[in-house]
Amino acid sequence: MAVALNNRGIIMARNRLERFLGEKAWTDRSLAKYTTMRVGGPAAIFITAEDLTDLRLTLQTVKDYELPLLILGRGSNLLVSDTGFPGVVLRLGHEFKHVSVEGTEITTGAGVALGTIVQTASRHGLGGLAFAVGIPGTIGAAIAVNAGAHGSDLGAVTQKIVYYSRDLELRTATSAALGFSYRNCNLPPGAIIIEVRLGLEEAEADMVKHEMETNWKRRKRSQPLDMPSAGSVFKNPPDNQAAKLIDEAGLKGHAVGGAMVSQKHANFFVNTGEATGADFYTLISEVTARIKETFDVELELEIRLVGDWSYVQGH
Ligand SMILES: Cc1cc2nc3c(=O)[nH]c(=O)nc-3n(C[C@H](O)[C@H](O)[C@H](O)COP(=O)(O)OP(=O)(O)OC[C@H]3O[C@@H](n4cnc5c(N)ncnc54)[C@H](O)[C@@H]3O)c2cc1C
Repeated sequence: MAVALNNRGIIMARNRLERFLGEKAWTDRSLAKYTTMRVGGPAAIFITAEDLTDLRLTLQTVKDYELPLLILGRGSNLLVSDTGFPGVVLRLGHEFKHVSVEGTEITTGAGVALGTIVQTASRHGLGGLAFAVGIPGTIGAAIAVNAGAHGSDLGAVTQKIVYYSRDLELRTATSAALGFSYRNCNLPPGAIIIEVRLGLEEAEADMVKHEMETNWKRRKRSQPLDMPSAGSVFKNPPDNQAAKLIDEAGLKGHAVGGAMVSQKHANFFVNTGEATGADFYTLISEVTARIKETFDVELELEIRLVGDWSYVQGH
């Protein structure tokens, strides 16, 4: 399914962005290959901003033509509609991939892979990030969603961020202002994180390595890492675990088209080959309804839905 081309704003924005950004601007680029679930239709406009000038131009254009904007990291926490995204999808490029270490602080561009920062911390004998080993994606997104595991999260190590606000101002926010909570933070709507400062602690390099190895082994043992997924689909309800509820409801292996509840980890929904966004959406709806019916628990999504879903039957 193609994104509607009859939108005047999109056409004018495309013309401007293609003129100024050349090969950094794409039209109708499939998002399936930019998400770890491997589903999703095209982005009307897909931009890689290599530096602040590209970023400013893109944001100004989005503002001028009042277009929807999606900041894309590695797409490992997203379910994208088969109809795609009818606006601008923006990725951070080269200038947002710097990393520097000073004492116990790491300053990094928002486009750096979280895994790179975890390894950097380990090499410098810095503790506090070993929980994040194996979480895919960029550091910018990890802060935006407050990614976490093994009882910790990014909020625990974030000191401050630099971001572009919706009104195109460069601003900073401290950890306190971001008010981190379970898989969430108070990032102002439309904010794009461009730089991050993490505060870690001195630690024995061997201890950090050992903790990372233990966490990685646990992950490999319990998660279907050989199949496309977006990690945990639902947040854990208070005092409970989404995976346990889904398992106890007998839903492991339950499938809709090519989307299936993993046999290995019931809160991971995997793409068995030819899944569509609609398959995943329907599977999510069915599991949510069954858990409500069986346990009277409302599951809340951890993954983020992108695009329009009104085309899915039973929506
Ligand atoms: C196998 C697997 C295991 C996983 N394990 C975990 C886990 O243990 N813990 C966990 O928390 N998550 C886990 N996840 C989910 C996912 O990896 C994390 O949520 C990750 O932080 C998302 O990063 P991303 O770059 O892929 O973000 P994306 O999916 O691309 O984006 C996620 C959100 O962040 C926003 N965003 C991206 N970049 C920026 C930016 N620069 N500024 C502002 N907003 C931005 C996007 O607009 C979107 O709303 C797992 C996923 C997989 C596939």
